[in-house]
Amino acid sequence: MNASELRKLFPILDQEINGHPLVYLDSAATSQKPIPVLEAMKAYYEHDNANVHRGVHTLGSRATDAYEGAREKVAAFLNARHTEEIIFTRGTTTAINLVAASYARSVCREGDEIVITPLEHHSNLIPWQQAAKATGATLKYIPLQPDGTIRLEDVEATITPNTKMVAVTYVSNVMAAINPVKEIAAIAHKNGAKILVDGAQSTPHMKVDVQELDCDFYAFSGHKMCAPTGIGCLYGKKELLERMEPVEFGGEMIDHVGLYDSTWKELPWRFEGGTPIIAGAIGLGAAIDFLKDIGMDEIERHEHALAGYAYDRLSAIDGLAVYGPREGRSGLITFNLGDIHPHDVATVLDAEGVAVRAGHHCCQPLMRWLEVTATARASFYLYNTEEDVDRLTAALVKTKEYFGYGIG
Ligand code: PMP
Repeated sequence: MNASELRKLFPILDQEINGHPLVYLDSAATSQKPIPVLEAMKAYYEHDNANVHRGVHTLGSRATDAYEGAREKVAAFLNARHTEEIIFTRGTTTAINLVAASYARSVCREGDEIVITPLEHHSNLIPWQQAAKATGATLKYIPLQPDGTIRLEDVEATITPNTKMVAVTYVSNVMAAINPVKEIAAIAHKNGAKILVDGAQSTPHMKVDVQELDCDFYAFSGHKMCAPTGIGCLYGKKELLERMEPVEFGGEMIDHVGLYDSTWKELPWRFEGGTPIIAGAIGLGAAIDFLKDIGMDEIERHEHALAGYAYDRLSAIDGLAVYGPREGRSGLITFNLGDIHPHDVATVLDAEGVAVRAGHHCCQPLMRWLEVTATARASFYLYNTEEDVDRLTAALVKTKEYFGYGIG
């Protein structure tokens, strides 16, 4: 894989910001989109645009084939057993909310437990808080090690026969740690609980096999993996999805509608009320083709090497604190530079053309656990190079100088 060549397929990267060539290091927030994805969506709107599942006309059946074809691509990408186990959603947040509002609320009672971790993004935390409040279940946390990793003995000690639901992120969007979700799933199942995996930060960067993980639910967002915003997926085991009530009602999801009662379509459509995100799904299908052509193993290898290089270069800057483990991490790096506020760091970096994220990263409880109010984060993708890391390092040294810290 040649990142410098791949960059050419991302037109947005070819621009100057504040007089410097752009270095985009915010792909964990959203990735950039390659030409094949942009073209697939343009071609759909130029040639095939129509509503799906309804019209008998040719455009309608072309649009339906493209939309359902995208579902097949997602199913193959995640190695789902059945295509109808893939529900299109707006993204990870909507997918998790669907499970929390439908499955969790129907199975949880007072005395039951929902188990999560302090690492969770607000999207994999608040839906469970709300489900716990609504059902009387208790929300429990698997404790973290000082480097933000999870020990299986702590998982064993937290999950009990009263646990109905476990929800855990595969890769932390702050600590970069890759969690042992397969082992956590086994512990959840041993106790009779179901597990949802938040795949927002794993799906873009590594090979995911939902059958191998044996997770019950898996959620991800297209926009972090070269697809447009507004499209994502919930994978759910068929036998569980079949037992779940929809949470959105209206057109497209019904079978028979009476004046006082109605019935729902079969899977997956009963969970896709209203006109679906057709062009988004087609863009996601094109993104999957693009990533598969490069190879998920190659992407993972490239990012792993880049993250290791960045970890070492950034750790060498005097006064810079890097969070998360050195090993077993994915392609992002979260840090603070002395007591300079991360917003100030990000502002100086932007003046140098380097785009990083600063803030609480939708992880306020984790920020309190780290005893910081915010951090800066650089995140990498297949189009980033060692040169980008060097530009980041040089800009950080300049930031120190700017704030009167001298050169470390
Ligand atoms: N979980 C994690 C770990 C994330 O990083 C994100 C996105 N920052 C989300 C969930 C939410 O994704 P979205 O906003 O696309 O729904």
